[in-house]
Amino acid sequence: MEVIARFAPSPTGRLHVGNVRTALINWLYVRERGGKFILRIDDTDLERSTNDYEQGIKDDLSWLGLNWDETFNQSHRFPMYEEAADKLRADGLLYACYETSEELDRQRKLQRVQGKPPVYNRAGLSLTDEEKAAFEKEGRKPHWRFKLSGKTVTWRDMVRGEQSVDTSSLSDPVLIRGDGSFLYTLPSVVDDIEAKITHVIRGEDHVTNSGAQIEIFQALSDHLPTFAHTPLLVGKDGKGLSKRLGSLSMEELREQGFEPLAICSLLGKIGTSDPIEARPSMEVLAEEFGFDKIGRAPARFDEEELLLINGRLLHDMPYEAVKEHLESLNVGGGEDFWNVIRSNITKVVDSAAWSTTLYSPMPGVIDDEDREFCAAAANALPDDITDGTWSDWTNTLKVDHARKGKTLYMPLRKALTGRERGPEMGPILKLLGAEKAKARLCGEVA
Ligand code: GLU
Repeated sequence: MEVIARFAPSPTGRLHVGNVRTALINWLYVRERGGKFILRIDDTDLERSTNDYEQGIKDDLSWLGLNWDETFNQSHRFPMYEEAADKLRADGLLYACYETSEELDRQRKLQRVQGKPPVYNRAGLSLTDEEKAAFEKEGRKPHWRFKLSGKTVTWRDMVRGEQSVDTSSLSDPVLIRGDGSFLYTLPSVVDDIEAKITHVIRGEDHVTNSGAQIEIFQALSDHLPTFAHTPLLVGKDGKGLSKRLGSLSMEELREQGFEPLAICSLLGKIGTSDPIEARPSMEVLAEEFGFDKIGRAPARFDEEELLLINGRLLHDMPYEAVKEHLESLNVGGGEDFWNVIRSNITKVVDSAAWSTTLYSPMPGVIDDEDREFCAAAANALPDDITDGTWSDWTNTLKVDHARKGKTLYMPLRKALTGRERGPEMGPILKLLGAEKAKARLCGEVA
């Protein structure tokens, strides 16, 4: 059986870490099985959905490498949803209700004081034609509710195992609003049937929804997908995602200079039994993915981990993979430069500072007590710098000046780079070249 899954964002904002994780899990599951990944744009809410957000979502997914095989918009399919609604009406499963939201509020308050659950009283079901006509005459427009069976719906969830939702504890869900617009519930089922979705993979905030939606699936067709509800993301302290993290968008992470693969490595591993670490490619992430590895505990999202993973990825990143990015940042130096500095940066943008350090004119930083030593070191430096120069040179200096360890190396590092920390000095010296190195050792701008 071909796996067909979908990611169904609403274009009412940009993608954030939570919904990207859902997209990623769908994608990984499909890719590993050679199936089909559908991007469905849930834009039934015409007022809040915008083309810009839709384009932004598509840009974010493309940037992350989450390519889709097909995409469509719900707003282009209203006739299909109307048809499904007509079928439900004809079967007595979709009924008109005329309560205003104030009336419903009052009902719920009353139920609360009576210690009853706030479940809709189904008054709409027993309205006579005359009563309905009287409401219409008053200018009221009906909203439409799906009649739940009142039985317990069960399914085997790929993450949560046996699940059951007692539909007698739920209000019959509103499928169509008073203004005739569709809520997400029915269009989603109609589309999942039509696209033959085999797996509905989404966050566990949809579990109760699934109870009602399964009854709608059964009312409309013989097709029923398998469900997987993944635990929600929480912050590193185990509490719900802070407002800031919850809305942390891909756009921001991209602007902050994170690698898409770092984001996918982290989001693909948190909440699973695998170690949280940088993975070399999306293919490897897909191979390693499995629902059996996803636990019931919430997945902890920690920005610091993202930074570590980002750095880790750069340490092994070949020049070819980063060339364009370096060029866009105007960072010169080429492959030799990249190979030297990549293990000392956590983001590609940090390479700009190293490029300035190595290639822009600057004076070496020399403490007074090291001035003589550095000048002597400049004298002792050969004009032709090779791979072995650093160790030969410092071995000579060690003997001649009776210096070792930090007192030997630190003045040289500071004079040559202006910094106390950085990549290995052998390759740095080679990148600088003898002329620049000598000048900096003598305190000159070079
Ligand atoms: N548009 C829905 C949401 O973002 C989709 C849920 C689903 O995957 O069915 O919550």
